[in-house]
Amino acid sequence: MDLLSKVPLVAQSCVVNTKHWTQEYPDGKQVHCVYASMKIPAGTKLTGNPLGGHIFLGTTARRGLLAESFGLWCKCERCSDPTECGTYLSGIICPNHSKDSPAYILPINPLDQNSDWKCTDITKCGNKVLGVGEIQRIMGPIEDKVYELTDSAAQLGFDQLYRRSFSLEEYKLTMAMEKYDGELERVLHPNHYLKFQLRKQVLYGMNFIATGIREGTIRHGILRRRSMGLQILERMFNISKQCSELVVGVEPGLSIYYGKI
Ligand SMILES: [Zn+2]
Ligand SMILES: [Zn+2]
Repeated sequence: MDLLSKVPLVAQSCVVNTKHWTQEYPDGKQVHCVYASMKIPAGTKLTGNPLGGHIFLGTTARRGLLAESFGLWCKCERCSDPTECGTYLSGIICPNHSKDSPAYILPINPLDQNSDWKCTDITKCGNKVLGVGEIQRIMGPIEDKVYELTDSAAQLGFDQLYRRSFSLEEYKLTMAMEKYDGELERVLHPNHYLKFQLRKQVLYGMNFIATGIREGTIRHGILRRRSMGLQILERMFNISKQCSELVVGVEPGLSIYYGKI
C-alpha cells in the first residue's frame, strides 16, 4: 500500500504542495508525516506524490511508473497537459522549424499512453501526426544511451557528494555525458527530462573535478590547466541555473534540488 492511500486528505497529483514520509520509531511505531511544501491558500486541495525524485520524469514514463508501482493512472493537471504545465519535459524538437523559432512535438492526449504526437506549430506542420511507434523509434535509442550513461554514473557513486577521490574513468564518463547532452540539443527541448537526468550526473561529476583541482587531489595531466577549472565552474553554474528554473516549474516550493525537502 502506498503512503498516500494512508493519508486520505492528500490527493495524488504530479503538482504537489505537500511532502510526506513515514517516521519509524525504535519501538516499531510508524507515524505518517505530512507538511506543506509551499504556502497553501485556504480551501486549496492538498496534493502529494509517492514517486519522490521520479516526479521529474516525463508524463508517459511517470504515469507508467505510477501505474506499475502504485496501480494508479494519474489524471492530474500536469498529466493532462501536453506541455506539462509549460515545462515541456517530454518535448521533441520538430525538424521543420528554424533554431530561432523552434516548435515541439508533444502527445495529443497525454492521458493515453498510446496517443499520437504532433507539432505545436499547426500553421506550419498542420495536423500531421506521429504514431507512438515513430516516437519510440526516435526516443528508444536516446533513452537507452542516457540510461546506460547515468546507470554507470550511479554505479560509480556519483551521488556521494563528499568523497575525496575521483578516477580518470569517472572524468571520462562526466565528459561523455556532457558531450551527449550537447548532441541532444538538436533533438530534445532544453528541459527534456532525459537531458535533466544527464545534467544532474554531469553536475555531480564536475563538482568532483572542481573540488579535485582546488584541493590538488586530481593529478591527471589534462586537468592541470587552470583554465579548464574555470570552464568547469562556469558550466556548473549554467547547469545549476537551468536545473533550478526547471525545478520551480515541476516542484514549486520546497525541493530537494534547493537542499530543502
Ligand atoms: Zn499526474
Ligand atoms: Zn513542426
